[in-house]
Amino acid sequence: MSENNYKKIYEQFSTQRVIIAGPCAVETSEQIKRLAGILKKLGIKFFRAGAFKPRTSPKNFQGLGIEGLQLIRKTADENGLYVVSEIMDNAELENCYNLIDVIQIGSRSMASYGFLKLIGKATAKDQKPVLLKRGFNATLQELLYAAEYISNEGNPNIILCLRGIRTFEQIDSAMRFTPDLASIIELKEKTGLPVLFDPSHSSGDAKYVEQLSKAALLLGADGLLVEVHDEPEKALSDGKQAILPDVLKEIIEFSKISEF
Ligand code: PEP
Ligand code: MN
Repeated sequence: MSENNYKKIYEQFSTQRVIIAGPCAVETSEQIKRLAGILKKLGIKFFRAGAFKPRTSPKNFQGLGIEGLQLIRKTADENGLYVVSEIMDNAELENCYNLIDVIQIGSRSMASYGFLKLIGKATAKDQKPVLLKRGFNATLQELLYAAEYISNEGNPNIILCLRGIRTFEQIDSAMRFTPDLASIIELKEKTGLPVLFDPSHSSGDAKYVEQLSKAALLLGADGLLVEVHDEPEKALSDGKQAILPDVLKEIIEFSKISEF
């Protein structure tokens, strides 16, 4: 795609609420095809699914790698969707560049400054959007510096994504992280970049996702990054926090009525 096309993709994040939705990970071709069809019907344009998964335990499912990404690309093209997916190192960046429309930098990579510079350099030529997730132990200033590492290399098309932080609450909270909702307000004051909220990783439980999504939109988030699965009990990663398509439908309806 050309620089102009990527500019148009990026502009959508400032002109309308964007909901990026999809499973945590690409698991099988059937799963991806089914979900892409369901999401397209709901009006979703940005399809997320991880092929390289940054799992806390090396014993857990690590993703299908490049084959998984090729599957997402093909299915997204068949359904007219954009691909949002994470890469974690330079080899993945080189091998998978053309398979992704919005490159996701995960929470755990936010402080990999050398990698951020490489991402900035690689995307400078076509201005491909980069979705940068807040490190779960990073301050807002550190998130903004991370964005600067990318933009300094020549690509200003960065989307920030809050995804929950680690606080004292984790000692006895039912949630996986503390949802950093209030940071939406502050980031919107501090930067002109689009700010998304991820209710799925923030809370780690599907039962909180609808409420958190609505709160984020009311606080002025430019959109959401949300995990959706039609068979969450069978998901190979993050099934507990995946909402069903019907819940996503509710969130989409709310995003329309709460439009500023
Ligand atoms: C993800 O969105 O796929 C993900 C792994 O999230 P995070 O980097 O925020 O943990
Ligand atoms: Mn996940």
